Amino acid sequence: MDEQHSPWPLIFLRPDGARFEVSIAAWQTMQGFIQQASDATEAGGVLLGRHLRDGSAIIFDAVTVPVDGDRRARTRFHRAQRRHQAAIDAAWAANAGTCTYLGEWHTHPEPIPTPSSVDWADWRRRLLHDRYTEPLFFIIVGTTATRAWEGRRLDVIVSLAVTTPIS
Ligand SMILES: [Zn+2]
Repeated sequence: MDEQHSPWPLIFLRPDGARFEVSIAAWQTMQGFIQQASDATEAGGVLLGRHLRDGSAIIFDAVTVPVDGDRRARTRFHRAQRRHQAAIDAAWAANAGTCTYLGEWHTHPEPIPTPSSVDWADWRRRLLHDRYTEPLFFIIVGTTATRAWEGRRLDVIVSLAVTTPIS
């Protein structure tokens, strides 16, 4: 398949004007799970990264990928909490507490992904119950576009626009 997908660098503009940047390593990992094949199942995991000290950007460095215990179907992905939590804890330890949980990603078998009702419910539940430093991000990788949303514990979830790098 040579269908064009969202190119890298992939940078989203946040409501406060700061940037949410996807590292090339994280982008390449997620690209590997794009559901081009008609029988490909959804994939997903957690987003790991860091807040820049000056507040100008949040960098999303790495993702976890599907593991044994995840439930994967054509239009459904449910991750096994404990295995992915172990990856979050390991990243935290290896990076002296600078690499943290930033949110969730998963794939959709549609060109421009739209969150399902299950996604909205899952995201709202995470915003209320997960432990994190605000905000949380949610990424859906479609077959041609990657989209991102940002949420806070007691606020609405907003869709983020793609922006260009600062030269
Ligand atoms: Zn979904």
